[in-house]
Amino acid sequence: MRTRDMDVQYIKGVGEKRAVLLRKLGICSVWDAVHYYPRAYLDFSVCTPIAALQPGDTACVRGVVGCPVSGGMIRQGMSIYKTVVTDGDDVLHLTIFNNKFLAQRLQEGETYLFYGKVTKQYGSWEMTNPLVEDPDGNVPFHPVYPLTAGLGARQLSQIIHQALLLWTRDEPDDLIPPDIRRRYQLAHALFALKNIHEPDTMHDMEVARRRLIFEELFVLQCGMALLRRRNRTKTRIRVQTHSVQDFLATLPFQPTGAQTRAINDCLRDFTTGDAMNRLVQGDVGSGKTVVAAAALWVMAKSGYQGAMMAPTEILAKQHAQTLQTLFGDALQVTLLTGGLTAKQKRIAKQHIADGTAQIVVGTHALLTEDVQFSALGLVVTDEQHRFGVRQRSTLGEKGDTPHVLVMSATPIPRTLSLIIYGDLDVSVIDELPKGRQTISTYCVDSSYHARVYAFVRKHLDAGRQAYIVCPAVEETEGDLLSAVGYAKELSEREFSDYRVGLLHGKMKPKEKQQVMADFAAGDIQLLVATTVIEVGIDVPNAVLMVIENAERFGLSQLHQLRGRVGRGREKSYCVLVSDAQGEAATQRLEALCKTNDGFKIADADLRLRGPGDFFGARQHGLPQLQIADLLQDMETLQQAREASQQVIAADPHLQKEEHKELKDAVVRLFQKNGTAALN
Ligand code: ADP
Ligand code: MG
Repeated sequence: MRTRDMDVQYIKGVGEKRAVLLRKLGICSVWDAVHYYPRAYLDFSVCTPIAALQPGDTACVRGVVGCPVSGGMIRQGMSIYKTVVTDGDDVLHLTIFNNKFLAQRLQEGETYLFYGKVTKQYGSWEMTNPLVEDPDGNVPFHPVYPLTAGLGARQLSQIIHQALLLWTRDEPDDLIPPDIRRRYQLAHALFALKNIHEPDTMHDMEVARRRLIFEELFVLQCGMALLRRRNRTKTRIRVQTHSVQDFLATLPFQPTGAQTRAINDCLRDFTTGDAMNRLVQGDVGSGKTVVAAAALWVMAKSGYQGAMMAPTEILAKQHAQTLQTLFGDALQVTLLTGGLTAKQKRIAKQHIADGTAQIVVGTHALLTEDVQFSALGLVVTDEQHRFGVRQRSTLGEKGDTPHVLVMSATPIPRTLSLIIYGDLDVSVIDELPKGRQTISTYCVDSSYHARVYAFVRKHLDAGRQAYIVCPAVEETEGDLLSAVGYAKELSEREFSDYRVGLLHGKMKPKEKQQVMADFAAGDIQLLVATTVIEVGIDVPNAVLMVIENAERFGLSQLHQLRGRVGRGREKSYCVLVSDAQGEAATQRLEALCKTNDGFKIADADLRLRGPGDFFGARQHGLPQLQIADLLQDMETLQQAREASQQVIAADPHLQKEEHKELKDAVVRLFQKNGTAALN
């Protein structure tokens, strides 16, 4: 076994007990230990004279212990020690809680470095539980690691130090090939590991850090490239693509240039002999459905079934209707959702199994085992940010290597989409259908409610419809406006002369469908809803959306919600109601008022909230990053991408001897996170 795979228990100074604690931190092997990076550094390299301290500073003081340490146990489990330290001119009082070891270490008359936060009490300087170093110790910077109860900072540093010694001795190879290190001016792995843990200068640490960030992103993207290659499996599904003309000819509108490009991308994929793995990314209302429909059409016309998955039943139903309208009598569309009766389900499944169902639309219920397709050729997943990578691949396993098309309405900065969707080819629909209204968006506080209602009424009087979105379903959720209570109130008072509907996630599927159908038919004029209407629903006569407690929603989510209006010819509006104070909240909502461009909003969202919230990386089944930050390290991300492409082009499966270490790191990264194994 190689040193790096050695169990952490056998590192000098660890043993069984500490190994348990280390595992809690995710440190199981020597490899893990050296890759457990500090989150900060304490600077012992610059000492501050006591006279120059400011109360509240965290500082390093060099001083002589002026008297023997006194104190001891004051009660069970609690001990206090005290002493004083002087730098020759002034005095600093030390208090040490519960650290007998440190109290015994400090000797009267000896000099040490004391690091900690200083306070001034009754005119004298105090420091409590300092970190202590010997002045001649050549550790100018102390790494600060995330800790766990029972494992001290000093112990962990020492364990990692031991691991580093082992690593340096036995693992001298660098997984980044030398020519790439040269081109991007990256430090060697050994330098980087030493200096991320025990830097001599902060400059060295920065050099090390940059190298390790690059490494992480490089390994990640090599892995994504392998995934992409692996997904590029041969398929026997043969498609006649010319039939797309018949479909396009029946469309009630001219497809946009971007739609045409995306359709052509799909058709080209169908003819390569490899299974398609494509993401169609486009803002709400950009017309992704038509792209999917075109692909489903040629598939069905070639004798294969197509499946379309949506995240909710409402959406699935709507898609089924849209598709059936687009296809007319030419193709048979079958809906299969959890809301069907047992009998309906049985019939649907039978049609799917015998091939009568040419297009199947459903929710994740399509993933269940007992749905058998007769000849599945294409799987379309709509709004895939709701599905994990794993779910996506399950459906892919249903048929004989079907083509896969994923549609996402979450615009993300392009570089990020390379990470999230790195295993897919991407078509971007960056053009809205002609004549689309921009949605005017306003931000008001709740003192404007009367005026907002008047605005709603104006549109209802004109025969239009409106949505009001609330963050909560019921009253129980604090002081948030709740859909249930609000709908009742509005229907009894302000809008008693109109039909007010209610839609939320806790309703039964049947009820939800009825409400949506009534709204689509115009029988309901004002729909009070939670975010269940976030995705997909298309009612062109709805021209106004009011969003209550708007600060509760993410920007991209607000943008999605807003996309429910502006789908017809009429001028549309979105009113964000929020009493949130503070610059951050205001800034976020203003970003939405300024632009209708989902990509710009995504950028703003990312900038203001950070990538963690942004796409819930875990949900995507992608590895978690340890040191790289997808927002801060965008430039390195690009470089690492170039580098990974170069390496994979030269060695598509990372089989060459010189890429052994790299391959190993890739497998490790993806396995550790329980993602698709990459062997
Ligand atoms: P999304 O990308 O949000 O899924 P849809 O596919 O639901 O968008 O399309 C939104 C609306 O735009 C639908 O009513 C659709 O019929 C219409 N549409 C799509 N493409 C065009 C086009 N090229 N010209 C005009 N209207 C279009
Ligand atoms: Mg859609």
